[in-house]
Amino acid sequence: MALSRMQNSSVIDTVDKVKRIVVKFGGSNLRTKGGFQKLLKAVQYYDRPLIIVVSACFGVTDMLVKTISTASYDKESIQSIKRSLQKIHFEIIDFHISDTFKKNSVKRKIKTLLNELGKLIQGINCIKEVPDFLEDKILSFGEKLSSLVLTSVLENKIKKVKEYLPENIGLTTIGEFHNASIDLIVSGKNLKKHLLKDHTCVIPGFYGVSHQQQITLLGRGGSDYSATAIARCIDADAVDLWKDVPGFMTADPKYINNPDRVSFLTYDEAAELSYFGAKILHPRTFEPLYKKDIPIRIFNINNFSKSLSPSTIIRSGKETKNKIIKSVTFSEDFGILKLLGPGVGITPGILAKVSSVLHKESINIKSVITSQTSINILISSSDLIRCREIMTSLKLEKIENIKIVGNISVIAIVGEGLTKSAGIASRLFTAVSIQNINIHMISAGASDVAIYFLVDKKENSKALKAIHNEFFKKTWRESNEK
Ligand code: ASP
Ligand code: MG
Repeated sequence: MALSRMQNSSVIDTVDKVKRIVVKFGGSNLRTKGGFQKLLKAVQYYDRPLIIVVSACFGVTDMLVKTISTASYDKESIQSIKRSLQKIHFEIIDFHISDTFKKNSVKRKIKTLLNELGKLIQGINCIKEVPDFLEDKILSFGEKLSSLVLTSVLENKIKKVKEYLPENIGLTTIGEFHNASIDLIVSGKNLKKHLLKDHTCVIPGFYGVSHQQQITLLGRGGSDYSATAIARCIDADAVDLWKDVPGFMTADPKYINNPDRVSFLTYDEAAELSYFGAKILHPRTFEPLYKKDIPIRIFNINNFSKSLSPSTIIRSGKETKNKIIKSVTFSEDFGILKLLGPGVGITPGILAKVSSVLHKESINIKSVITSQTSINILISSSDLIRCREIMTSLKLEKIENIKIVGNISVIAIVGEGLTKSAGIASRLFTAVSIQNINIHMISAGASDVAIYFLVDKKENSKALKAIHNEFFKKTWRESNEK
């Protein structure tokens, strides 16, 4: 779909023309009283029944993660997390609900949830280990609390609203604990029965229930993915993701002065940008939407003032007419595991062995670049040392040396059609090499919409500026001011 058509299509029409909308609010929207206030205003502005997906209040999931890690030896942490969570959620209630009867009734419900949570954490303290099912169940409480609070506050502000928990409506998952996927077929059948209502439905994000009825998480930051999967299940007309940042930019404003806003992205472009470090959306957010072409609209809650105009719209499409490169991004969460030996490249089966062992150890392979004498596996930097130990103990034939390379940064440029346009790679690498930056490795062609390469972490900022300058025509001084 050409950009010009995308711009004219219904997706940028006012919200009134969009019928059924899934709206997701992130933890950062629930961070401050002011943020929560804006959230309420936005919900009221829609003036229609919505399907609202909510993350845990800011910082709550991290607090739960920390408590899980200390609960086996620190009994006091159980009481202290209950106290902290009670304070965070009671404060919102005190501020937004004035009716005493109502206030007390919600507080009682919160206390019930906190007592249940306390017992689960107590379980870790007793058995001195953290089974996967228990970890997922405990971490789901952040969203359970926030959705209860949001529903109660909304009851005062809009006509009719009701909370729906994933375990009660059959938001079904497949796959492993911590990082499950949503079973779109089964969930589709279930959710259509529950969510197509004439009132607003509030659903906690971040988790679903497995076919065995166990709570399973969708990965950190997974409530964006909850929202798009729910949208797909009920054939929504749009998914609106509210953030407290201005959507996608041509580069991270922490590194580049005044980058431009990116108004349109295709699913592939947004997925690659998220994969390679743009922290706005979870990389799996887009998976459920491809088949139905449901647009994602990103809104900045800080810019909301009585009109809904998205910062970035994401939907399907292939060619773009104007600018090919939409954005440059980077991630420092990459490291290289190098398996070296003459002939590793043509030895059958090595990669299969390596990948199945890493899979068993729950280590995610981010990319593989091979040559005749070296297999280079890109993994998270935090997995590097463990990976070297695992590979050493495997004693694979043909592999004579195992090295790990840390302190690197992966930089990616992203845009539909970049592999089909002559000269882009040359512009990219010329811009970098003029700055005397050494490139460790390059991958072009693996994805139709991204070229990425590895540099030393300390060169990251210089490389980003050079690339942004090349593709977005900022003057060198402008980009260099930061
Ligand atoms: N609360 C979860 C997390 O912090 C999920 C989310 O925020 O999307 O990872
Ligand atoms: Mg979040």
